[in-house]
Amino acid sequence: MNQPDLDSLRAQALDLGADRAAVISTSDIAVSEAVAFKCRVPRCPNYGVCANCPPHSPTPKEFRAVLANFSQALLFNKRFAPEVMVSPDQAAERREAFAAIFKLAADLESAAFYDGHYLAFGLPAGSCKSVFCHAHEHCAVLQGQPCLFPAMARPSMEAVGIDVFQVAALAGWDMQPVGRGADPNKVADSSLTGMVVVV
Ligand code: SF4
Repeated sequence: MNQPDLDSLRAQALDLGADRAAVISTSDIAVSEAVAFKCRVPRCPNYGVCANCPPHSPTPKEFRAVLANFSQALLFNKRFAPEVMVSPDQAAERREAFAAIFKLAADLESAAFYDGHYLAFGLPAGSCKSVFCHAHEHCAVLQGQPCLFPAMARPSMEAVGIDVFQVAALAGWDMQPVGRGADPNKVADSSLTGMVVVV
């Protein structure tokens, strides 16, 4: 299979506000049941209440089969202040940070499409329920209604079982998991990651 040239898409990621962007081979991406299981134990508030989160999102097994049809992925990452990621009183800023990654995933998916990669799809970080529908009691899709944010809503990398820290290491990025109880002063890299996958 010829490898697509994603240099232009990588440049567009940086133009659109990503701080880092790298092209990796999909065959190097680890998709793990253990990652998706983290949505369930301990249970994330979005587990079962969002059409794009487990158990409604594609399972790791389904996603591995999908990914086998694609050759490369553009990984993009955006840094945010550690306080935004961990502080209880910065929930609105945290939502905006996650929304920025959803927007990058959607915009780069669209850019890839118009570059000729018509099967490209983008995956962000986080749950569209907490990012876009936090003020709604229920996910409209799970109520049998149309999605309220159809161009933006999609499963996250972690929801389908992608080990974000493993792919970041492939890109040479030294990222660390940041829990809500972390001391912001001790967080070296506070960032969010998404990817766009192309055939
Ligand atoms: S954006 Fe809202 S309505 Fe759409 S899938 Fe996500 S939670 Fe459901």
